[in-house]
Amino acid sequence: MPALSFSSLRYRPRSRISGFLGIAVLSLSFFAQPVLAETPKEEVVAEPMAVNLAEQVSAVVRLLFVGDVMLADGPGRAIAGGRDPFAEFADEFGQADIRIGNLESPIASGGKADAEKLYVFRASPAVIDRLSGRFDALSIANNHAGDYGHEAFLETATLLDIAGIKAFGGGRNLAEAHQPFIIERSKLKIAVLGYNEYKPRAFEAGPDWPGIAWSEDSHVVRDIRAARAAGADIVIPFMHWGWEGERSPSARQRQLARLMIDAGADAVVGSHPHVTQGSETYKGKPIVYSLGNFVFDGFDTDAEREGWLLRLTVSKEGVRHWETVSAYLDADGLPRRAKPAVPAAAASPTVPATPATPATPEAPAAR
Ligand SMILES: [Zn+2]
Repeated sequence: MPALSFSSLRYRPRSRISGFLGIAVLSLSFFAQPVLAETPKEEVVAEPMAVNLAEQVSAVVRLLFVGDVMLADGPGRAIAGGRDPFAEFADEFGQADIRIGNLESPIASGGKADAEKLYVFRASPAVIDRLSGRFDALSIANNHAGDYGHEAFLETATLLDIAGIKAFGGGRNLAEAHQPFIIERSKLKIAVLGYNEYKPRAFEAGPDWPGIAWSEDSHVVRDIRAARAAGADIVIPFMHWGWEGERSPSARQRQLARLMIDAGADAVVGSHPHVTQGSETYKGKPIVYSLGNFVFDGFDTDAEREGWLLRLTVSKEGVRHWETVSAYLDADGLPRRAKPAVPAAAASPTVPATPATPATPEAPAAR
């Protein structure tokens, strides 16, 4: 008989086993469905082992993903004024075992703005206090991580590290940038990889210079397989991809998502388009193409001001359950549970308006 069923049944006190056997087997169905049809035999009279059931219950890990977190401009001013961007969703953060987001702005006091870009972001180091204790890891694989150059990029990683937050999808060199965020909880080894494919590619790390991980297909497949080979039970790529403002994923996103799942990913999560893009399952594994904005200001449409939190429950077998929770940006660009009555654009006069032409991967005005 498989160990899962056997060890759990042993936890039940001997005197209750016979009368409650049916209930006991039913209660195990969440973890051990393949053995339901088997009839436990004499093993049920073995000695109680109180630890086993507890181990199985804790073998479920709850992950929380949020989309783009931009902590300069409006959100930066709100934080400086005492607001906590994550207070409204404290329950979701509190209930998750692992909290992950995409950090869309460097956090630094140093560095120099990229003169080639229309939108450049840099958040004050003071915002670290708001991230600390909320996030376990933040992807820095995006089209703003390099806005203030290598100095600010490295300062960001250092500040996050001091705050106990793992930066992934970027590093001091190419090899480091492709290392997953690996975390073990309840004997589950989870690997989350971060990639960007929205220009400028100049932000990509090199053999001996810092930067982000680029989503070259062959590299992504190699990294997923390497994470599996290193013993990861769950592998999730967190992508920065897609066309800004598009409500549906592109053919490119669909193709790459399938490639990643074929290579061994358990789920694919994305952001960057500033809107949500729907989801689908492929081979039974969820693809949530874009979570949209989570903390970001300067957007004009309802679609841009609504983002998703993604709750993923995983076990050794993969994703067991997932759901999205909507968040609506307020005038400061902070997420709220209910749609604010005041238009965000009216309260952010200093932020440039959205470009009239939808941005494309070739357009320099991308946010
Ligand atoms: Zn982006």
